[in-house]
Amino acid sequence: MWIKALKEIYKDQYFLENEPMSNHTTFKIGGAAQIMVIPQNSDQIIQTIEICTRNEVPFYVLGNGSNILVEDAGIQGLVIKIEHGMETVYIGEDHIIAEAGVKLNDLAHQLLNASYTGFEFASGIPGTLGGGIFMNAGAYGSEMKDVIEWVEAISMDGKIIRFELKDLAFSYRTSIFKAKGYIIIRCGLKLKKGNISDIRDKMEELKARRSLKQPLEYPSAGSTFKRPEGYFAGQLIEQAGLRGLKFGSAQVSEKHCGFIINLGGATCSEIITLSKMVEKIVFDASGVKLEREIKIFTVE
Ligand SMILES: Cc1cc2nc3c(=O)[nH]c(=O)nc-3n(C[C@H](O)[C@H](O)[C@H](O)COP(=O)(O)OP(=O)(O)OC[C@H]3O[C@@H](n4cnc5c(N)ncnc54)[C@H](O)[C@@H]3O)c2cc1C
Repeated sequence: MWIKALKEIYKDQYFLENEPMSNHTTFKIGGAAQIMVIPQNSDQIIQTIEICTRNEVPFYVLGNGSNILVEDAGIQGLVIKIEHGMETVYIGEDHIIAEAGVKLNDLAHQLLNASYTGFEFASGIPGTLGGGIFMNAGAYGSEMKDVIEWVEAISMDGKIIRFELKDLAFSYRTSIFKAKGYIIIRCGLKLKKGNISDIRDKMEELKARRSLKQPLEYPSAGSTFKRPEGYFAGQLIEQAGLRGLKFGSAQVSEKHCGFIINLGGATCSEIITLSKMVEKIVFDASGVKLEREIKIFTVE
């Protein structure tokens, strides 16, 4: 019933059945989503929420899948992927508006071409703008909260709601959207004009730092754990002697202990088991409780 209703609003290429989530996560892990839709506009999102609510179908919002872990059993229900189709960017002289599906790296390059500075930090974060806002993604001393002016999101009763910066409850790797579950559709950015070659140099420098420090040659979801107050997760893990620790095909990266990587064919349960082992050993060694940053999409 709900599947038929959704089929009526999505063209074939934006309606995927039994879609392997391993194709949609940077961990390259996860069983199939029963249905995945890729909305091309806000109206389709509103109609999709309405169909799910009416039929009591659970749904999950996905950006680029760079901060999530999907269970091996897959996802019963619907995945709404906000990416291609919702990636328009308007860059004007006095304001910038971008849709949630644009990749942070693409947006950073568009801003570079328009000589806007302040967004360089986000150029190496492999997520979408929507996922970045949801997580208040940050790197090298800046976070989304420093560049966002307002956000529009769709509520569970299908209304478009505008949030000003002060209402977004941004703090370390979180925003108001974690509690609300609304679907972010677009935002306004506040940035200053800068010198194009300085902006390019900064982006290049950050890219080089990333590839030097991070195991980008392996699938992962970035830092597995949040930064505990007063410590660095990677350092605590290293000090506990866990560099390179393996469970199945999951491994604490040799290059950066804060990353758990997929050596090839790792399952969700292997990643979870290894991260729990790390949490316990680090706690026993240091008394510091690590908290997972990666969100797990669970089976209903
Ligand atoms: C190699 C690597 C390096 C990384 N480096 C960094 C880093 O430096 N800093 C950092 O902060 N993170 C980093 N990350 C983690 C990740 O890229 C960020 O958290 C990113 O912001 C997630 O965006 P996404 O689009 O992939 O979101 P997803 O992983 O798809 O989703 C993450 C969460 O956001 C929600 N979400 C996504 N889109 C929307 C939307 N439109 N509306 C509402 N909710 C939404 C999802 O439901 C989910 O709960 C890294 C990851 C990798 C793999």
